[in-house]
Amino acid sequence: MENIILIRYEEIFLKGNNRWVFEKKLMDNMRHALSGLGTIKIVKSQSRIYVVPKEDTYPFEDALLRLTKVFGINAVCPCVRMPVEYESVAGQAVEIAKELVEKNGYGTFKVETKRADKSFPMNSMQVSADIGHRILVAIPGLKVDVNKPQFTVHLELRDMAHVYSEVIPGAKGLPTGSGGKATLLLSGGIDSPVAGWMIGKRGVEIEAVHFYSYPYTSERAKEKVIELAKILSTWTRGVKLHVVPFTEIQLAINEKCPADYLTIIMRRYMMRIAERIAKENGSLGLVTGEAIGQVASQTLESMLVTDRSVELPVYRPCVGMDKNEVIDIARRIGTFETSILPYEDCCTIFVARHPVTKPTLEKTLKFESELENNAEELIGRALAGVEVLTL
Ligand code: ATP
Ligand code: MG
Repeated sequence: MENIILIRYEEIFLKGNNRWVFEKKLMDNMRHALSGLGTIKIVKSQSRIYVVPKEDTYPFEDALLRLTKVFGINAVCPCVRMPVEYESVAGQAVEIAKELVEKNGYGTFKVETKRADKSFPMNSMQVSADIGHRILVAIPGLKVDVNKPQFTVHLELRDMAHVYSEVIPGAKGLPTGSGGKATLLLSGGIDSPVAGWMIGKRGVEIEAVHFYSYPYTSERAKEKVIELAKILSTWTRGVKLHVVPFTEIQLAINEKCPADYLTIIMRRYMMRIAERIAKENGSLGLVTGEAIGQVASQTLESMLVTDRSVELPVYRPCVGMDKNEVIDIARRIGTFETSILPYEDCCTIFVARHPVTKPTLEKTLKFESELENNAEELIGRALAGVEVLTL
């Protein structure tokens, strides 16, 4: 009998012939997430993955926490593994129930059995009923509630028996690295880290680009974005952050273009620079934290004009979300507290009192042409000043 961790995953089952590629990635990402905690074996068997520690002193709590941040995992379950020997398995189930009732004062439970080994003489229902009965006999006052039990004893009878109760929700999604790479425009706000996380959840690796306008934005604002990228990196197996000096471009736009078009033109420059960085690093798309109607630059008209500045598709996973929905996710993934620290974003300096909400491409291009003989040079200088941080 040994303490191990059972990993449940689901969406990968739909992958047909490719399934093993996703499973291999998932196991590799798990190994990466757990590195430094102690010697383990990670094995896959019959639609489950198991983490088997090799030392008695293995830090289970740390490992469980780290595994809940690995995309592709639906649930993390600390469990006891033992040979499929019915009497000892039943005894273990009763033990687990006793412990939980003593510790938490639970009054209701159920038993749920999965039986992969069909040669086993009882079916799942019979096993659940029999073990449920044994638990009832052992713990006076406890009742069965199949709809809303206070705890569930899970039994999985496979090549070995697995007994557990705790089912910790995982991050779900698909394993990082199974879906290519995208480049995230990361500001210091609430939305863009959430947008990066949502794309990351689908198995996409993230590189991030941040524009800063020193001395109009402070060193502290940059530190804040580095911190956000660090938090994101704990979910996505690392993030490479490209920090782009943007002051010269902003000053040039400010000088040459009408005030109400500043934001949209600045946005287009950000996109063009991000696209250069994206193409360089093999990204197949750009990601922003925009949501329809949130601010003037996020109307359908503005986003259309923004997207005409680049060839790569622009993904906006927050596009249909309300601010509160974005905030809920930000809290869950740990970026919210950092995002709400006071800071200046380069978007908020030089803003017009009334930025255009319905820009046209025609006018935008006309105003931009004031800068055109200079555009390549400006972009080139910004790119030459990029600082790359691996987080
Ligand atoms: P966020 O909360 O992500 O900052 P927001 O609601 O404040 O979004 P804007 O400031 O208009 O909206 O920015 C829209 C999007 O443009 C951001 O989600 C981000 O993807 C990108 N962006 C804005 N400022 C920067 C910046 N300084 N560096 C990189 N990307 C930026
Ligand atoms: Mg912002």
